[in-house]
Amino acid sequence: MVEDDISLRRELRRGLEETGWAVSEAATAQAARRLCLTESPDLVILDVGLPDGDGFSLCRALREKIPCPILILTGFGSDDDVVLGFQSGADDYVTKPCSLRVLQSRIRALLRRADRWDSTASLCSGDLHFDLIHKMIFRGSAELLVSRTEFDLCLALLRQNGRILPREALLAAVWDDRERFISDNTLSVHISRLRKKLGRYQDAAYIETVKGIGYRWNVEVRKEP
Ligand code: CA
Repeated sequence: MVEDDISLRRELRRGLEETGWAVSEAATAQAARRLCLTESPDLVILDVGLPDGDGFSLCRALREKIPCPILILTGFGSDDDVVLGFQSGADDYVTKPCSLRVLQSRIRALLRRADRWDSTASLCSGDLHFDLIHKMIFRGSAELLVSRTEFDLCLALLRQNGRILPREALLAAVWDDRERFISDNTLSVHISRLRKKLGRYQDAAYIETVKGIGYRWNVEVRKEP
């Protein structure tokens, strides 16, 4: 949640956490940019009037970096503002004041849509085909034998669409909190095993190591109908 009004932020946070969502807060555009890179959020709630910039340009910047839905929540309610919001890449536009129940419903709808995209699409990259419903990977008609964890690692990287996924974010995406004792080394071992199974495409590895930061899916990803 990106919001510079501290009392509103606290109130919204309480309301959203009651629903079971985990909320991270940013009060400035700069903090929001940083947070989005380290946390890979499922959804961003974005205020427009921020002390160090406007939410519209921030929305455009985030859109290029993260694939999740962005909901603009703002007092700016003119038609021009709403149009600009959608032009900036927002998935929904809500004007303040807005009741918590309405906001929760809108968030649920956005998450549902994002999830539907995730669970029905199948993806292609290089000579690999990813069946997201059955969590299977194929090269031509041959299935690659990957574990559930390996598939989840692939998917987390594919979803970034060429952007770097920091190691911390990858750990958080694949293993839940109960298993957080998973060490950095375990991640490296999983990745190297997975790399061997995926093979290479046009002489490049599918998964690139970005030294000191994390990993990147190195081959173009296409959505299949
Ligand atoms: Ca504001």
